[in-house]
Amino acid sequence: MDNKNISAVKKLAVFVSAMMLVIVYLSSPLFSSVSNAATVDELKKQQQQINQQKADIEKKNAEMQGSITQTQQDYDQEWLKYLSNQEQLNQFRLDIAGYNEELATAESNYQDKEKQLQDRLVYMYQQEGNQYIDAIIGSKNLSDALEKTYYLSLIVDNTNQLMNEIKGLKGDIEEKKSLVVNQQYDLQTTTATQETNIQNLKDINQSMTQQITANTSKEESLTQQYAKLQEDIAKEISRQQIVNTPYSGGTMGWPVPSSHRVSSPFGGRVNPISGRSEMHTGIDIPAPGGTPINASASGKVIYAQWNSGGYGNMIAIDHGGGIATYYCHCSSISVNVGQTVSRGQLIGRVGSTGYSTGNHLHFEVRVNGVARNPLSYVS
Ligand SMILES: [Zn+2]
Repeated sequence: MDNKNISAVKKLAVFVSAMMLVIVYLSSPLFSSVSNAATVDELKKQQQQINQQKADIEKKNAEMQGSITQTQQDYDQEWLKYLSNQEQLNQFRLDIAGYNEELATAESNYQDKEKQLQDRLVYMYQQEGNQYIDAIIGSKNLSDALEKTYYLSLIVDNTNQLMNEIKGLKGDIEEKKSLVVNQQYDLQTTTATQETNIQNLKDINQSMTQQITANTSKEESLTQQYAKLQEDIAKEISRQQIVNTPYSGGTMGWPVPSSHRVSSPFGGRVNPISGRSEMHTGIDIPAPGGTPINASASGKVIYAQWNSGGYGNMIAIDHGGGIATYYCHCSSISVNVGQTVSRGQLIGRVGSTGYSTGNHLHFEVRVNGVARNPLSYVS
């Protein structure tokens, strides 16, 4: 896309945005009715929904708290089992070490005997042939020779028997040891599973605790929403009380005591900005910027803020009986929505905010939302 096209697209976007603003402005209810608050029933319905949500959260939290207690118990049990298994494993290690020591002793005994036997045998066979016979012949007598061979053979037999015994002993120890090694292996497998279980239980508890914390803060925000709705309900009720109360303010006071001139009357006129003919919904009272504006009659402030529809800084007061007054283009506002004001009370100051060509007060009287000629109401 070249620059020319981009700027065309930008222009189109600006145009579309402007059109949207116009549509929003035209459909804005502010000019026909200042109050667009939800009804008390609707607000109460919202409160019921919030209470339901809170009850749901509390129920969930209570359930999770129960689960946490259960998993905590499971965790404690599993942990105790794990500790006792660790003790058992330590015992197995000690047992195995003991068996290993016994085996080493037996092995060394066996080797000693083997050495002895070897020595005897080596001696005997070294004596074989003439020398051995000589030894026998060299004996003092036959019994001496016999005694010598018998003695040797006895030693051989005896050592052999000892060695067999040691072999048997070694076998027994090996058997016991392998039993413990097997038990140790099984227990190691069990404790590995336990470690996983313990970690899982820990994770579950942690995640549930986090959920409870999140739910609790959700509940807190719902409580705040509920309180806000409570305020809205109170405001709405008092507003309706005013609307439903008959107007008893008598003749209204003039809103700008220091200026009694009307520069533009109520009714058909040519709009000073657009040049088109239109209905002027109030009267214009010119006065220097900052001139005090007084409430025309007692009532309750139902609007006290910037109005983007053209009124600029705007104040609206509900006087009961469906009668309201508007004070527009103010330079400043000195009251708040919901505030009760008395006749003649300072509520703001003259300005030229919004669609305005100079400092003046645009003053309106509305009866059930319809603009009436203020001069019929003020003294
Ligand atoms: Zn005006």
